[in-house]
Amino acid sequence: MIETDNRIGDKVKKGKKIYEGKAKILYETDNPDLVIQEFKDDATAFDATKRGTIKQKGVINNEISSALFQMLELKGIPTHFVKKLSDREMLAKRLDIVLVEVTMRNIAAGGLSKSLGIEEGTVLKTPVLEYHYKSDPLHDPLINDYHIEMLGLATAKEMKKIKDYSFSVNEILRDFFGKVGLKLVDFKLEFGRFKGKILLGDEISPDTCRLWDKKTNEKLDKDRFRRDLGRIEEAYQEVLKRIKS
Ligand code: 5GP
Repeated sequence: MIETDNRIGDKVKKGKKIYEGKAKILYETDNPDLVIQEFKDDATAFDATKRGTIKQKGVINNEISSALFQMLELKGIPTHFVKKLSDREMLAKRLDIVLVEVTMRNIAAGGLSKSLGIEEGTVLKTPVLEYHYKSDPLHDPLINDYHIEMLGLATAKEMKKIKDYSFSVNEILRDFFGKVGLKLVDFKLEFGRFKGKILLGDEISPDTCRLWDKKTNEKLDKDRFRRDLGRIEEAYQEVLKRIKS
């Protein structure tokens, strides 16, 4: 057990590893309701067929996610965020994850451009919400409310909350990033259950959002890694710098 001091003085004991994902490791704590989410520098893309590391990514994404979760909480979106514990560690509520990934899109890129043949950069008339089944072996297929009900992934009431929160998060983030000269092209959210409530979980970072510079359309997100565009760490640092500005 490692003892982690947090800023309000109480102590959280870091326990056993629960799960190691592509970009994060989850640890138990001595409080069964709380976990420590540790951000790694590892990066994967295209169903983990492309692998690499982005220097300092874990530190940057922890800082960006912590700032964004705090901002969203202040705007009325309940999240799993409790506090930032260290450079790479975030204390979070332990969620029963809903196996539905929500993608929100404002501008065509990535999967939408490919599947519907819409040119990258086309501003969408209205935001587009998509659900994907969170399943590595099935490669996160696109699903709809009927699949969700048939698979028993969440109740209709839970999905209503998830949908409402997702549109609100889009409004809040689009406005927030807009003010620091960034276009929020699209992003992915994950939700989970905690004591009967739906909370926003996972992370919000350049790993999970597409962010373009407003003036130049320069990509400041994981597409730099996916497409070998170079200056990846610099792009992540730039997003952090603007968020803190
Ligand atoms: P797309 O479906 O176009 O590949 O992704 C849409 C948005 O969701 C992008 O901002 C992308 O970064 C994010 N996203 C979708 N699936 C994943 C995923 O499995 N991991 C991460 N890190 N981001 C994802």
